[in-house]
Amino acid sequence: MTRDRAVAEMLLRRKTRPKLKKGKRYAKRSKKSTTKEPLSKKHENALREAFVKVLLKSPLGKVRFSDDERHISVIFFDEKFSYRIVIKREVNVGSWSKSKDEIFIDKEILETENIKSFKALCVHEAVEKFLVETYGLDLDKEAHVVATKKEEEYLKRIGGSWRSHQLVVYHLWDKLDRH
Ligand SMILES: [Zn+2]
Repeated sequence: MTRDRAVAEMLLRRKTRPKLKKGKRYAKRSKKSTTKEPLSKKHENALREAFVKVLLKSPLGKVRFSDDERHISVIFFDEKFSYRIVIKREVNVGSWSKSKDEIFIDKEILETENIKSFKALCVHEAVEKFLVETYGLDLDKEAHVVATKKEEEYLKRIGGSWRSHQLVVYHLWDKLDRH
């Protein structure tokens, strides 16, 4: 199967998130597939693998933060998504809301005064949330892998060091995990 074909098929199966008229909560997704014939497990796995490869190679587009750094908007894979950034105690350093347009970042990352690490983590959580919610990617095996790549791309773009960023995040994660 060609890569373009894989992407085309994956796009056809793109999950839509119909918005309710008021408020920002999403309506629950229908579990019905958009294609009439279900894919075989083998075909589905091949498709997913090809799609993840395409995403890994797709460059991260524009990333914007609001002046107060509490909102992020990202362009990736020809789509734009924006989330509110909530700073709180977050044992996994970063995560995101399944019901609202919000990503969560642990408050201590700001205390390290490493604004580049903070921003790169925001990009990670935003990309991950988008891929899970829009394409139904597996969080750990697929979305997290792509999100980490885009986090690295962004960090390098703003002149950060991936190695020191990883150390900052690891130390924070280790510290939070022990509480
Ligand atoms: Zn992740």
